[in-house]
Amino acid sequence: MGGPEARRLAAAAATARRLIRAMATAHVIGAGLAGLAAAVRLAAAGWRVRVWEAAPRAGGRCRSFDDPVLGCAIDNGNHLLLSANRAVRRYLTELGAADRLDGPPVAAFPFLDLATGARWTVRPARGAVPWWLAVPGRRVAGTRLADYLDVLRLVAARPGDRVIDRVDPAGRLFRRFWEPLTLAVMNAPPGVAAAAPLRTVFLETFARGAAACRPLIARDGLGPALIDPGLAWLDRAGAAITLGRRIRTLTFADGAGSGAPRVAGFACAHDTTTLGPDDRLVLAVPPAVAAGLVPGLEVPGDGAPIVNGHFRLDPALAPAVATPSLLGLVGGTAQWLFRRGALASVTVSAASALADQPADAVAAALWRDVAVALGRPGAAMPPVRIVKERRATFHQTPENQARRPRATTAWRNLRLAGDWTATGLPATLEGAVRSGWTAAAR
Ligand SMILES: Cc1cc2nc3c(=O)[nH]c(=O)nc-3n(C[C@H](O)[C@H](O)[C@H](O)COP(=O)(O)OP(=O)(O)OC[C@H]3O[C@@H](n4cnc5c(N)ncnc54)[C@H](O)[C@@H]3O)c2cc1C
Repeated sequence: MGGPEARRLAAAAATARRLIRAMATAHVIGAGLAGLAAAVRLAAAGWRVRVWEAAPRAGGRCRSFDDPVLGCAIDNGNHLLLSANRAVRRYLTELGAADRLDGPPVAAFPFLDLATGARWTVRPARGAVPWWLAVPGRRVAGTRLADYLDVLRLVAARPGDRVIDRVDPAGRLFRRFWEPLTLAVMNAPPGVAAAAPLRTVFLETFARGAAACRPLIARDGLGPALIDPGLAWLDRAGAAITLGRRIRTLTFADGAGSGAPRVAGFACAHDTTTLGPDDRLVLAVPPAVAAGLVPGLEVPGDGAPIVNGHFRLDPALAPAVATPSLLGLVGGTAQWLFRRGALASVTVSAASALADQPADAVAAALWRDVAVALGRPGAAMPPVRIVKERRATFHQTPENQARRPRATTAWRNLRLAGDWTATGLPATLEGAVRSGWTAAAR
């Protein structure tokens, strides 16, 4: 069968699917970015959508909140996106919120070596041919073109490899490029981090030249940029979002008579929801929570911390040297400095040791580095808020890569979403959005 008859049947099937969706409900558990991306896609496809979130606010690991000490809204942690993050950008474009991300107009990554005072800026150039590596003013200070052969070894990474298996730890590029890059992207040091997801990021960004490498930052904070537009869109689409409702159990039906096993319902402390035969459930919770709800689900172990320090500078503490809105730091405790208005915020990834120290000690160590970066070494510490995210990402080791589950499950109406599922990407916002879309697909 082909031609008009096939087209007529395909159109009829599509109409039937739309009708079923209009009557069926898609439940999304978890209102982090993955859950919101799934919910938006499902609502756009015609499903009636209900979102269930345990916390009193949406956003999960990507959120803003009012801080009484600093007297302003801050983010749980600095989040850096790149122009290559096409899913996040498309998500925001579809919500009419593309302007909520901001950043320098060119792809440039300024660095400061806190130990030596050396400053340099990595400036990828246009196009896929990396001729800019041959230009000393565009590459990492103190490196030679031959040092970049590591890139070819990273591109050839095999599934069980760690970053350190592919790059030279004694090489000139290690301390000033591979280590900060791996920490920032993988939230793990090169000796621990899986090489394959870093390779994917590298191929989607640096290997495509400047247009893919422009840094992007939430203009007015993570909530206003990435979470609120999704909530507003869902509200307009008639989706119901229930906050403060922790789902504690899923119930399963063996599917007798209807072919495949399915999720029959779910419950929180006070009420139970029964799923209709065509209803769908997207579980967009962290890995340990998913493993507690879905029998036999293998997940990667989480618990890799990121620590952020937010300092509110008063005008007397204006930087004494030109300080870009984003500055990479090596040779100290702080790793990245973000400046937005009066806030100077620093990030430390793979921060297990720091997260175990008291907030005062963390603040003192971070301020030492920030003061140097601002050209004001020894200045008195301004008001500060330390945020320790102990489960910022899963441990992104080769072993855990193998434990990342696909979106589809043994239950025909249950899909998984989250930055920890098998996206091929590191645990990032881009991975979270792509996972939500995969879970929402037919
Ligand atoms: C400090 C920090 C810095 C980061 N920096 C970057 C960065 O620079 N760039 C980048 O791309 N990414 C960064 N990330 C990672 C990024 O934040 C995550 O990849 C992304 O937010 C994960 O979204 P998610 O929806 O998969 O998971 P989550 O945000 O964890 O969402 C899961 C949601 O499920 C809810 N939930 C849990 N249990 C239940 C339950 N039983 N019932 C109902 N709801 C439940 C949770 O409350 C949460 O809202 C950073 C993360 C942190 C913490």
